[in-house]
Amino acid sequence: MEVLYSSTRNAENKVTASQAILKGLSEDGGLFVPDHIPELECPVHELAGKSYQDIAYEVMKLFLTDFTEDELKGCINRAYDSKFDTDVIAPITQAEGTYYLELFHGATIAFKDMALSILPHLMITAAKKNHVENEIVILTATSGDTGKAALAGFAGVEGTKIIVFYPKNGVSPIQEKQMVTQKEDNTFVVGVHGNFDDTQTGVKTLFNDRELEQEMTAAGMQFSSANSINIGRLVPQVVYYVYVYAKLLEEGKIADGEKINVVVPTGNFGNILAAFYAKNMGIPIGKLICASNENKVLYDFFVTGKYDRNREFVLTSSPSMDILISSNLERLIYRIAGNDTAKNAELMAALTKTGCYEISEQMRAQLADFYGGYADEEETAGRIRDMYENTGYVLDPHTAVASAVYQKYVTETKDETKTVIVATASPFKFTRNVMNAIDGKYDAMSDFELADELSKIGNIDVPRAIEEIRTAPVIHDNVCDKTEMKAAVKRFLGIVS
Ligand SMILES: *Cc1c(COP(=O)(O)O)cnc(C)c1O
Repeated sequence: MEVLYSSTRNAENKVTASQAILKGLSEDGGLFVPDHIPELECPVHELAGKSYQDIAYEVMKLFLTDFTEDELKGCINRAYDSKFDTDVIAPITQAEGTYYLELFHGATIAFKDMALSILPHLMITAAKKNHVENEIVILTATSGDTGKAALAGFAGVEGTKIIVFYPKNGVSPIQEKQMVTQKEDNTFVVGVHGNFDDTQTGVKTLFNDRELEQEMTAAGMQFSSANSINIGRLVPQVVYYVYVYAKLLEEGKIADGEKINVVVPTGNFGNILAAFYAKNMGIPIGKLICASNENKVLYDFFVTGKYDRNREFVLTSSPSMDILISSNLERLIYRIAGNDTAKNAELMAALTKTGCYEISEQMRAQLADFYGGYADEEETAGRIRDMYENTGYVLDPHTAVASAVYQKYVTETKDETKTVIVATASPFKFTRNVMNAIDGKYDAMSDFELADELSKIGNIDVPRAIEEIRTAPVIHDNVCDKTEMKAAVKRFLGIVS
């Protein structure tokens, strides 16, 4: 059955999956949502034993119904290949009786690789299907992680170029090195003198620059976005929830039909929304435990029914969760409003205007499967240390937030349901915070010394993503003022005017 997509703010215009991927965001500012969430075609026990790639096909074909089998399998096979450092793509580690689903074995050792390694292929396939002949130019502002994951995904993909702007003094040395050493001619990385907000504002201005748009069209190019609200990033994330259930079943860790809980370290709400979609497809998921750090807007929302971004922004050791507006939550709000676009649009307008909104009792009643929790910096560091001391397993700070929230959940509810904690980053990505949590004595070491030490104490190889940048030459040494971003883009694209 065909799945069409429409905006969370206006049900009128329906588009195909490939059109939704090309557009990214709807013109009215809403997010594209499927007109229904498809059910799995076969009972989940029939998926037990299948590879990650096979399950990806079984899930994605149900959402991306205008892609042919060949197209979709081509995208999947190009994405989930030797870029990952393990054949199984998403391995599961058991520690303290819970299962850690490791989504950090891709090119940039964080979970964004799960979606960003396939998005470029979905996008060029979508462009071909819709007779878009222009070259697709991805334009992104990054505070660190997304930029590298997008660069790694789009590097060398024919028919695309990617431009990443980052705040020159606003990312970690490792993050900067990861980006400026990016190979392939279709990539362009520029440091901006300014903070992340300046950079992001600059990129938004470029997206809305009609003169630039005309010049690009004349040169056979168009902008697109690899932003996390793109349905082409959400759908690939549903896959690993189906996969983990099938795998636990295959290994006899759970019985057929047995419910599992999932704990997701959350920022923009994309990952946990994918778990919610998997549950709606028929995967027996009990509780969806939404873990926040000290930026606990979502925790407050689940406890009170009121979303309020008017608060201090806290910089934490889990920076990818330092977010006050969780964009993907809009898809859940739309859903619990009974797919009511007017109601959702009203709440989102209130969010823009006043920074907060409150949902009705009736809407709250539909959130019973969600549980919000949070962990502060001390609890997070304590969790990294305790886990290491108890089991030798090393958690990154994002995963540690989830693990700490899970402990609080169990203490509070005594729920003994088997649980999967989503591990979203390798500890090697946040080595300094991880090693400091384990023992203060490491603080004097350099970043690469810390990586070697972590390898020793954790008995894990230094990932290729870190080894590669140790000696890699800097390829991108471009720096510009925020007023020069347009000129930089035109220079890279070869547009003269
Ligand atoms: C992006 C990110 C998250 C948050 O995921 P959302 O889908 O935005 O909720 C958590 N952990 C890490 C390591 C990330 O990079």
